[in-house]
Amino acid sequence: MAGTLGACDTPSEGEPATPDAIEQSDTAGKADDANGGAGSSFDPNRLIADAAMLDDSVFSAAQIDAFLADPYEDGLPSCLVHESFGGRSAGELIRQTATEYGLNPLFLLTHLQKESSLVGKLGTCSQIAMDEAFGCGCPDGSGCAPQFSGFANQLDCAGDLTRSYLDDLAAGQSTVSGWAVGKAKSTLDPVTVTPANAATAVLYTYTPWVGNQDAGGNAAPFGNYLFWQVWVQYAGTLGYSVPSGDQPPPPPPPEEPNPGGALSDWTYILDTDLGLRSDGLGEGYFQAPRGGGLHNGLDILGHTGEPVYAPCSGEALSGFEGSFGNWVQLVCPVTLAGQEVWASMLYAHLDSREVGFGGFTSVAKDTRVGRIGSTGNASGTNPHVHYEIIFHSSRIDALNEFHSGNNTSSNATSDEVLALLQEHCLAPNGLDSVDPSGIIRFGRRFDPYLALTCLGANKAAFQTPPASLQSAVVPWSRWYQATTFDVDNGHL
Ligand SMILES: [Zn+2]
Repeated sequence: MAGTLGACDTPSEGEPATPDAIEQSDTAGKADDANGGAGSSFDPNRLIADAAMLDDSVFSAAQIDAFLADPYEDGLPSCLVHESFGGRSAGELIRQTATEYGLNPLFLLTHLQKESSLVGKLGTCSQIAMDEAFGCGCPDGSGCAPQFSGFANQLDCAGDLTRSYLDDLAAGQSTVSGWAVGKAKSTLDPVTVTPANAATAVLYTYTPWVGNQDAGGNAAPFGNYLFWQVWVQYAGTLGYSVPSGDQPPPPPPPEEPNPGGALSDWTYILDTDLGLRSDGLGEGYFQAPRGGGLHNGLDILGHTGEPVYAPCSGEALSGFEGSFGNWVQLVCPVTLAGQEVWASMLYAHLDSREVGFGGFTSVAKDTRVGRIGSTGNASGTNPHVHYEIIFHSSRIDALNEFHSGNNTSSNATSDEVLALLQEHCLAPNGLDSVDPSGIIRFGRRFDPYLALTCLGANKAAFQTPPASLQSAVVPWSRWYQATTFDVDNGHL
């Protein structure tokens, strides 16, 4: 068994595991104290119990050394048993660190194996593995800072860091990288994780990977899945069980983010509401048929020269292009039910643009970003703003969004945003698209009316457009319905 649980922090380094080594999350009926506090199956939201991580009274130095003498019950000792640290054994150092920082020695052993494989290493421990035993104070690829180099320093660094994360969480703050109990956050896999307890938030702060799948979808243990596997194995070998009766109270459940109400504080992008464009050159609804493809946005009707605004504070870039005409891209962060995502919006066919010249510039909410027109390939149509909205997991990805109609790919964030909108806005309000496509998301593009409404943007009451716009009367209720408000005149 020794060495089969390797230390890997990235998918590319992950050792493939047999498929049956991967257990599915099964929170229903999970026994919290099974497997020494790691649960009866792997749950990325709850890696080990807080009481298990903080159980600092178990295992003497002699017991830890005895474990290291045969960690995989195959008669083969860890290389650490041959090491002496100023006359002290590895077990003595681990015991001391556990006491100093209030941590379970089993946590330190598991963490050590995950980071450097030193528990499972046979023969002689390599100097580099000892110098970087916990990867603590060692920026990727550049070695460890001298003051953190060496096994004893690494052990102290890892204990100190873990305790600092625990203290931040106990004070009601997020950890240094933004992890907190009950707060959804994306790992680097990426997977959305909502830590159910402090131990889990600490572990993702240290290693922001779930690690039970590589990019190709194959099983590959690394990151916190590897931690969980190693913990379960070592807890079994040591016969460890979580202490009963002194477990900390369960954390409060995550706050329900205003069910049925707006998910953010966005404003609408026009002062008036004349409905959607409808003319001989095309309908303006999301996914309307267009010359061989489908319409990627919403064509909101307006008078030429009418101002359009930023619904949120962010960064804007603008330009001119043959199809889009005068365009403005606006990128804003938005927190949906505790999860931060980034929206990239496109305004096209503008008569004029008023922000974002020469590079992305900061734009405050409600700033006028341009004026409605019919430039680019909208020449000959009723004037309108073609408006698109796409969500990404990071600011950089959102800034790099080109809104090209040739790119209809999806992304994981779109799946998450759709689920959040469904749960917290669309379903509670019976809000839905009734347009002929019935599609509220296509690839990574969202129906802009549904997204804007759920984010809080409340448009003005519908007015019949004047004859000068030569548009059929197309109120919003032709394309949308809701059970809690009138989509023409009301809002969330
Ligand atoms: Zn359009």
